Amino acid sequence: MKIVVAKTAGFCMGVRKAVDMVLDASNTAKAEPLYTYGPLIHNPQVLKMLEEKKIFRLDEIPQKGRGTVLVRAHGVPPEDEKALKKAGFTVVNATCPRVVKVQVIINKYAQKGYSTIIIGDEKHPEVVGLLGYAKNSGHTVTSMEQFEKLPKFENAVVVAQTTQDTVFYGQIQKWCEIHAPHYKIFNTICGSTERRQTEIRKLANENDAVIVVGGKQSGNTKRLVQIAADTGKPAIHIEDVSQIDYNDLSSAKSIAITAGASTPNWIINDTCAQVESNLQKLHPLQILLLKIRDFLLKTNVMAAAGAGFLTYACSGLQGFDKDLRHASIAMLYVLSMHILNNLFMIKSDKYNNPQRAFFYKKNRVFLWICALASGAAGLYLSFAAGVLSFIILLIMSFLGLSYNLKLIPFIIRKGQFARIKDIPGSKTILITIAWGTVTCLLPAVANQSNLLPVAVVFFFAAGLVFARTAFFDVLAIQGDRITGKETLPILIGEKQSFKIIQYVLIFDVCIILMAFFMDLLVNKAFMLAFIPLIMFLLIKFFRNDTRISGAHREFIIEFTFIGAGLLSAVI
Ligand code: SF4
Repeated sequence: MKIVVAKTAGFCMGVRKAVDMVLDASNTAKAEPLYTYGPLIHNPQVLKMLEEKKIFRLDEIPQKGRGTVLVRAHGVPPEDEKALKKAGFTVVNATCPRVVKVQVIINKYAQKGYSTIIIGDEKHPEVVGLLGYAKNSGHTVTSMEQFEKLPKFENAVVVAQTTQDTVFYGQIQKWCEIHAPHYKIFNTICGSTERRQTEIRKLANENDAVIVVGGKQSGNTKRLVQIAADTGKPAIHIEDVSQIDYNDLSSAKSIAITAGASTPNWIINDTCAQVESNLQKLHPLQILLLKIRDFLLKTNVMAAAGAGFLTYACSGLQGFDKDLRHASIAMLYVLSMHILNNLFMIKSDKYNNPQRAFFYKKNRVFLWICALASGAAGLYLSFAAGVLSFIILLIMSFLGLSYNLKLIPFIIRKGQFARIKDIPGSKTILITIAWGTVTCLLPAVANQSNLLPVAVVFFFAAGLVFARTAFFDVLAIQGDRITGKETLPILIGEKQSFKIIQYVLIFDVCIILMAFFMDLLVNKAFMLAFIPLIMFLLIKFFRNDTRISGAHREFIIEFTFIGAGLLSAVI
């Protein structure tokens, strides 16, 4: 069974912007009530998540109100915006810039006395908003038949709802060229919609069945289903993976999965993972290997092993004896902190990684014991290595534990004690510092290494950890934003994060080569420059190829740390 995930699946620019705006507003301004005017987007899971975050829905404009109202990506009629302001609300306009462009066109021609013909569903919020700019001379149609029945206007402007079917709009344009060449026609179908529709047409032709994930009320999702069905292939529309009847797909040899513009990543990821495990006919050995992979990732044993191997590599670079004690300390520390953080985040993890959230809920007691036992064992080993190592690890453990807790009395935010978690970008940076400390500084302290080689190796280790963590944070950006986690991608965006990841890895390659030529590190240390180079190429590849599952990507990136340790052992 082949499973292909559409590159265009998931949030479009306008939806992402609106969701980001409302979540940022909710994460920063907690005192004032926060509303969306109507449902923010047509996706039941996102709407449920907003309710959980106490972002309420305003369906009618009251006489008087207080708080902030966010106008959704579809936009609203201008009178509604005025009425909201008049009632006393602060209005945050999250109308998609591409919808604003259509509003501007209609407004301009309506002022010149033109009639407006909107190709779109009159009940759809975007069309309702657009009609508000047409100065009572707007008409909506959804079929060629309706269009032909319209009176012949002296002057008319023709626009499409941004998520209209491109083929249908092409027919309308052709009709106008022949029968009403004086009409002003604008192609207002959003580029993102066009690409999504073109891709699903292609994927439906190339595969045996199509699964479209998205709200049943979502116009653009319904259109994707229709386009796929028009190719003659079975097209299944689901809101979440529990709605799939696998019998319908049993004869398919290849399945394409796509999603509407308002479907969040975590639902797409969950769908892909479950379809894969339910339909792929794997050899029992493959099934066993995948189970082992998932277990190692969920329990953080893979991350811990990576920290251990990286410590071994860092020690090797500085010429210390085969340092298994510090590798064990790093392993135990990382295992303990990562499990504890996952335990604290069970509730929010359901958005990023529903399967991991379920695993942690089910094995809560066992995982608490593992986290505490490994934390204690790490501290014990560090004590045996020296008092200074013990104190450093104790401080790092305290910082790790306090990450989610409100216990920093000197930073006060909105009358509450703030957490380290609240500092912008803190998650990515703290993990980098913590790993850098246990993998490089602790062994260096115990071996009284020279400052320059320690600095080089610290930047090398921290650079690798930064790239790994920031990459995982990019993958989890939607869920992290919902849960208010402060990661680098949330602070500076995905594009900038990728740029920084690449620069950091190039810096890592250069620093190792430079240190090698300056004779600061052991003989053959230059070989370790391959590790950031490989990670650079992997991240570049994973960024562009959505066919590889999230668990695979995570496993391979974690494995590069093990690769660093193995390489260090043989040079
Ligand atoms: S589909 Fe296009 S126009 Fe509509 S919200 Fe998304 S980006 Fe904006």
